[in-house]
Amino acid sequence: MIIILKQGATEEEKQHIIDRVKEMGYGVNVSGVAQTVIGAIGVLQKDRDGLMEQLGALPYVERVVPVLKRYKLASIEFHPERTTVSVGDCVIGGERLAIMAGPCSVESEDQVLATARVVREAGATILRGGAYKPRTSPYEFQGFGEDGLKILAAARDACGLAIVTEVLDPHDVDLVCRYADMLQIGARNMQNYTLLREVGKARKPVLLKRGGMYPTIENWLLSAEYVLAEGNRDVVLCERGLPPYGDTNLRRNVLDLTAVPLVKELSHLPVIVDPSHGTGKANLVPALARAAIIVGADGLMVEVHPEPELAWSDGPQSLDFPAFQAMMRDLPRVAQTAGRRL
Ligand code: PEP
Ligand code: MN
Repeated sequence: MIIILKQGATEEEKQHIIDRVKEMGYGVNVSGVAQTVIGAIGVLQKDRDGLMEQLGALPYVERVVPVLKRYKLASIEFHPERTTVSVGDCVIGGERLAIMAGPCSVESEDQVLATARVVREAGATILRGGAYKPRTSPYEFQGFGEDGLKILAAARDACGLAIVTEVLDPHDVDLVCRYADMLQIGARNMQNYTLLREVGKARKPVLLKRGGMYPTIENWLLSAEYVLAEGNRDVVLCERGLPPYGDTNLRRNVLDLTAVPLVKELSHLPVIVDPSHGTGKANLVPALARAAIIVGADGLMVEVHPEPELAWSDGPQSLDFPAFQAMMRDLPRVAQTAGRRL
């Protein structure tokens, strides 16, 4: 439930409510700028009515509202201001758009470094690259593991961009945290609750892609809740498309851009869009990137490769350098239309 204090409520009054909620064994989340909003986390049905009545009767409480949604910390009711998440120098969720770009897989130091330099020059704010790859076939390239992380970290040192990379296994979270600035939870793992809890305990921002067995908006926000509930409040959502009804030769996924404004009504968390996985086709990426910005995305994740036709994974959806540069030249005017900037 959330307890909204009247304007002008004192620190002691605020503290009284916090103490009262904690005494009952519940967690507390305080937010609000003009007006203090205190969230009581996980209040059980048996305590709800009594607590609502008690707190609602206090003269400095404006109202007490039960949060009926199954996700609480992720909900806009609980946290009315929009959250921003800092990854290195990049702030995700502010006026400036976050542009994450880089190869699908880390293949070599030269490949990552060359890509890092080009995407940074073109305006990217975070470098992406996979060291642990979730592949549909066990015979396909699975990533270089820790050696790949080392290459990413070297690229960060050389070009100054923070790095985001996927963690697949709960046992690898500590290891990946030693190198990465942001942990990516891939679409296949959106409902891997053990992994979500583990990254929730980590002190690194989390990029949570939409996917899993039941990739509904509610389940996506409940997956974010797993991370938030462990104490990690730096969660960014990423829409990356859902399996298509057909035409898989023409597009790999259907990018659900409806999700962006919808999730922004339901949650305070930043949302970015990945038009690379969202379409599976490099030629479709720039149009969907523009559309994502227009519908309110806080940023993009785009796969870029020096030679997409030679890429070890996701070549068909990767932009080559000229295509990425051309897309980036076009985005500032789109961002301006959406009231944002690059
Ligand atoms: C990736 O980012 O390369 C990736 C595997 O993405 P997804 O989990 O969205 O398929
Ligand atoms: Mn990929």
